[in-house]
Amino acid sequence: MSNKGKHRTTKQKKTYSDSKIKYYKLHKHHLIGRLKTEETKKRMSLTRGGTGIPHENSEYPEEFNDKLKDSIKERDNYKCQNCGMTQEEHYVIYGRDIEVHHIDYDKQNCNKENLITACKQCNIRANFNREKWEQYYNKLRRRNENQIVIW
Ligand SMILES: [Zn+2]
Repeated sequence: MSNKGKHRTTKQKKTYSDSKIKYYKLHKHHLIGRLKTEETKKRMSLTRGGTGIPHENSEYPEEFNDKLKDSIKERDNYKCQNCGMTQEEHYVIYGRDIEVHHIDYDKQNCNKENLITACKQCNIRANFNREKWEQYYNKLRRRNENQIVIW
């Protein structure tokens, strides 16, 4: 047996982001199941006298509205500041826009310095080891502010 003629083929190089989007699109129906959870939350919110919009119930002050969230997302380039997931990718998986996270976990604190763009997954992750994430997101937010002059 000889190894002659054996050579490596260069595989088509795909960017991480491209393959991620493809994966999500391919597995969309499995992921759609997650949307039911949002539906359940909506119903739960309504039963409790909330707005019926998950994550936008009475816990959040009025100023935490779409306009404010959009300005935060714009500052953060519509990307999760932890994993880099884009708003588009977030929409494909969760069927809703990317989220805005309260860095100090105080939902009433809607200063721009306390808000950062994060995907649902990273938001859930940030509920554990809060101290670590608070420092981490503060650092990321400061970095963004240094990059963008007007917002
Ligand atoms: Zn993320």
